[in-house]
Amino acid sequence: MSERTTAPGDLRRTIDTLDADIEALVKRRDAIAAQLIRAKQTAPYDPRREDEISARDQAFWLPMLRRVRTAEGARLRPVPTKPGAFPAGDFALIAGPCAIDEHLEETLTLLAGAGLKWARAGAWKPRTFPWSFQGDGIVALRRFRDCADRLGLKIVSEVVSELDAPAASELLDVVQVGARNAQNFALLKLLATLGKPVLLKRGPACTIEEWLGAAAYLDGRVAVTLCERGVRGFDPCFRNLLDLPGAVLARRLGGIQTIVDPSHGTGVAGLITPMVLAARAAGLDGAIVEVHAQPSQSRSDAEQALHPHELRELAGLLGIAAVAQTPKRAAAKAVAPAASDKKRAAQANGAARTAKARR
Ligand code: PEP
Ligand code: MN
Repeated sequence: MSERTTAPGDLRRTIDTLDADIEALVKRRDAIAAQLIRAKQTAPYDPRREDEISARDQAFWLPMLRRVRTAEGARLRPVPTKPGAFPAGDFALIAGPCAIDEHLEETLTLLAGAGLKWARAGAWKPRTFPWSFQGDGIVALRRFRDCADRLGLKIVSEVVSELDAPAASELLDVVQVGARNAQNFALLKLLATLGKPVLLKRGPACTIEEWLGAAAYLDGRVAVTLCERGVRGFDPCFRNLLDLPGAVLARRLGGIQTIVDPSHGTGVAGLITPMVLAARAAGLDGAIVEVHAQPSQSRSDAEQALHPHELRELAGLLGIAAVAQTPKRAAAKAVAPAASDKKRAAQANGAARTAKARR
């Protein structure tokens, strides 16, 4: 029996029909995903939730927020009494690349070798321009989880939308809310129901009152840690102006664990270590910093990434003991830095470099 060849026109029509079927399936999936998110979200008006919130507000939040206006109570030194995202009593150092990229394993190996317990890396990157690297999403996050598990690290990563939050939070130890979403109240309400601790960045133009107000959406429902990451300043030397007094005040008034992010808070790699030490001296609870095994290869915020030797030095200054490397890890660590990285490392020890072209 001879094989019949199908005319190109018929093949085209078959492909068009298949495309239409695929499109219909994707639309159906999106509708179900949106339904799932709505089902998981707190109802807009839930009398029990309103009662709980009102009792808590009368007792703590409203009087506290009144004090914030005048910074009254700045002399108070209450230690955070509420559960935070990181173990209480220790100064936590969280480090990692800005974005999950092809050097993830090498960078995480560096962290584990330096004795760190916590890694950060972004799967969804909020970028100023649409042509900048946006992150590889949930696939990257799974890779981050797997790699961190192999090295015994806990992970923190940012979620940028309600759509991704449920799946992402299942993979994470701590969910980060970035500066641009600090007042995305729909996202905060959803995270309050997902059970994972939240690291809440301060918005670049948020007052202390607004920052604490955002924390109130989560407080009492999930563990919260505040993160000061710099506010909009006027000096182009710095990407942002790290507000250390603001962080201390928020911690004292809110009684909430508070850390700093001097990477985004200054945008200057050479200023990260002094700012971490200043945060520790000021009684804050930790710092989150960007580091990359080969900074010049980083797919975002390359200029502000610490060089491996800078990270090891910082860990040493904080009294974190290095871990002996297995031969496999030692080999990964021994990858020779690119020439540009050596040059950058030398610059990091010198004057602060102007923050530029990183957004
Ligand atoms: C980050 O930590 O990766 C980040 C984008 O920070 P921020 O939201 O503070 O800008
Ligand atoms: Mn970054």
